[in-house]
Amino acid sequence: ILKRSGKKYVEYDERAAVDFYRRRRTMDCLRRAIQEQLFEVWYQPVYAPDRGKFVSAEALVRLRDDKGRMISPGRFIPVAEEMGNVGEVFWQVLAQVCCFISNHKQIPIDTISVNISLEQFEDSHLPEKIRTVLEMWNVEPEKLRLEITERAIAGDAYQSREIIRIMEEDGFRFYLDDFGTGYSNFATLAQYHFECIKLDKSLIGIVDSDQKGYNMVRGLIRLIHELGIKVIAEGTETKEQVEKLLELGADKIQGFYYAKPMDGEELSELLVRDIEVCNIKEEVT
Ligand code: C2E
Ligand code: MG
Ligand code: MG
Ligand code: MG
Repeated sequence: ILKRSGKKYVEYDERAAVDFYRRRRTMDCLRRAIQEQLFEVWYQPVYAPDRGKFVSAEALVRLRDDKGRMISPGRFIPVAEEMGNVGEVFWQVLAQVCCFISNHKQIPIDTISVNISLEQFEDSHLPEKIRTVLEMWNVEPEKLRLEITERAIAGDAYQSREIIRIMEEDGFRFYLDDFGTGYSNFATLAQYHFECIKLDKSLIGIVDSDQKGYNMVRGLIRLIHELGIKVIAEGTETKEQVEKLLELGADKIQGFYYAKPMDGEELSELLVRDIEVCNIKEEVT
């Protein structure tokens, strides 16, 4: 309620109104995309320094508004979570990823990871449902990785912790995403079998800033390795960052320095070209 017309109040009110309409447009766009299956899936390749090539990729959902402009998932995923619709997004992304794997059995890639939200663990049938989709496309669970954030293993997230444990026993592999942004739940970390922990880009941003930043990342990588878990450095943008991360033994590197997210066809072209380049190098040496 606008009681005073002081400048501050008016500005605030305008911003709130813009946010409100933007949110409503996002919601409309989401509903339509869910109904008409309009989501696109892009892939960001992940580089393994010890093998000198891209070895995996992360599936990242993309959505366009009615004018064809991209809406960032950073904006629409939280809205989908609040609307209780994020599961729909996941199933459509998973189906597209399975279809891609199924149609590109010859491309040299170990795994593709898919982001999964905490809300989806409210469904206790999640493991069987995922298995059914994989079977439908004839995709082995070993090809898939699921990325969860720390919220999914937080103290009060009983059900998700239980489901993650069941799925791990069942052969599914999880990555812990955005590590270093939430409160890092060190005490429970050792109870899971994460294959990789993804250091958030905010941490990669400090690895080459000063000695303290460098030491922080070094300490975290040591700790994660101590737990027998591999490290993926996410959001690596510069040569300087890559150099520091190699020094510190990061196992995999994902970031604009090596590749931006791209559509499936571009990914398969890139990976095939990559292999050819490797083969030529081997022939020469
Ligand atoms: P995320 O899972 O941590 O994904 C990594 C994000 O970092 C991606 O943003 C990627 O494009 C971006 N990124 C990678 N390398 C760099 C870099 O060098 N510099 C910078 N500045 N950014 C980089 P994107 O695609 O916008 O996705 C944002 C977030 O949206 C994701 O963060 C994830 O939390 C969520 N998201 C994306 N796709 C899905 C999905 O299918 N389901 C769910 N539940 N969430 C998703
Ligand atoms: Mg992710
Ligand atoms: Mg992340
Ligand atoms: Mg995330």
